[in-house]
Amino acid sequence: MARTRRNRSGAGGPPRPAGAAAISSPLTAQEALTLYRPDLAELLTALSAPRFRYQQIYEHLMRRPGASLSACTVLPMEIRRTLASAANKETTVIRRADDGRAVTKLVLSLSDGLQVETVVMRYTDRVTVCVSTQVGCALGCTFCATGGMGFHRNLTVAEIIDQVRLAGALVTAEGRRVSNVVFMGMGEPLLNRRALFGAIRLLRDPRGLDLRSRGISVSTVGIPDGIVELAHREPQVNLALSLHATSNELRNRLIPANRKHPLQTILAATDTHFALTRRKLMVEYVLLRGVNDSVSHARALARLLRGRVAAVNLITWNEARGNFSPSQSNAVARFQDELRSLQVDVSIRISLGHSINAACGQLAAEQSPASAPPIDLWHDHGGRTF
Ligand code: SAH
Ligand code: SF4
Repeated sequence: MARTRRNRSGAGGPPRPAGAAAISSPLTAQEALTLYRPDLAELLTALSAPRFRYQQIYEHLMRRPGASLSACTVLPMEIRRTLASAANKETTVIRRADDGRAVTKLVLSLSDGLQVETVVMRYTDRVTVCVSTQVGCALGCTFCATGGMGFHRNLTVAEIIDQVRLAGALVTAEGRRVSNVVFMGMGEPLLNRRALFGAIRLLRDPRGLDLRSRGISVSTVGIPDGIVELAHREPQVNLALSLHATSNELRNRLIPANRKHPLQTILAATDTHFALTRRKLMVEYVLLRGVNDSVSHARALARLLRGRVAAVNLITWNEARGNFSPSQSNAVARFQDELRSLQVDVSIRISLGHSINAACGQLAAEQSPASAPPIDLWHDHGGRTF
């Protein structure tokens, strides 16, 4: 990969403010493999394998994302045989759905049979993968399909990274590569921080998936200490706040977690995030007809953001759960115009993937029996084999 890395030391971006943590030092291959698949690293350690074996396996898995361990032919037979015992830990694709050529939803089966969904979005200038961090979500937002599933469990670092690897297999076969990762799939990323931060480190690793920090975004409902930790640990990763309402009264109704972390506390955390990172806050605002989409709501939003460096993304509500309807297009236009007239940086997020239930908030793996045979994306979809 000949792409030059930018911003790793802050070059090209604003100077790092005092108090911001330095980005963690590069991982050795052994550390990277241990972070990604501790089970494989342990097997190698038990075999007293030399360091370069960790590197060969790690690079094999990251650079040939659809390939299995058994295809890593540079390894001696003994190592391959031992590693084969860990094959049942692998995440597999059990279903894919395509919405035209732009969006693909992958339903993945985890080693315990639970399922998560990952969405691949192909734009002309980038390929974005929307990853899940939990199976279900404990926060129960009243308008979100994932919220209706309840919480099953946190994903591991490997299960998060595998979503990007498998999406990578899909698009590599089309001659493209993953450029952006958004933590906007199932679950609340800042309630699974150990795996989130481990996964971000691996996403950025130049020997691995080699993504730019600025191509990574974490969306949160607003977990204050998680927001501050993100600023310290990953100051160049984008923060998106799912705001959706500007009063605690309305926000409590939409997002039950707001009772625990009210708006003032969340905004104090995003202000600290800005002080540490100087990064613009992305504000997500789902427009719900007759609930939060009037001109006076727009004015309240502009007031709330006054003096803050933020950009608003308006999202039309996708059919999911709850007694809601999407705002009508004239209400969306009026809301946007009002924000613009009040000097708010605003855009409308074009939601992709409705026809395959892959749009924002529609992810809720149907949890059908995980007996379907895995799909080999690499070979089934015209991928090159090395
Ligand atoms: N838990 C995190 C990230 C996952 S949700 C969070 O809530 O931010 C990603 C985004 O989709 C959030 O902004 C969420 O509010 C939004 N969303 C949820 N349900 C939706 C729906 N039915 N239509 C449109 N957006 C939705
Ligand atoms: Fe969870 Fe986010 Fe859905 Fe709320 S919107 S239930 S936090 S996934």
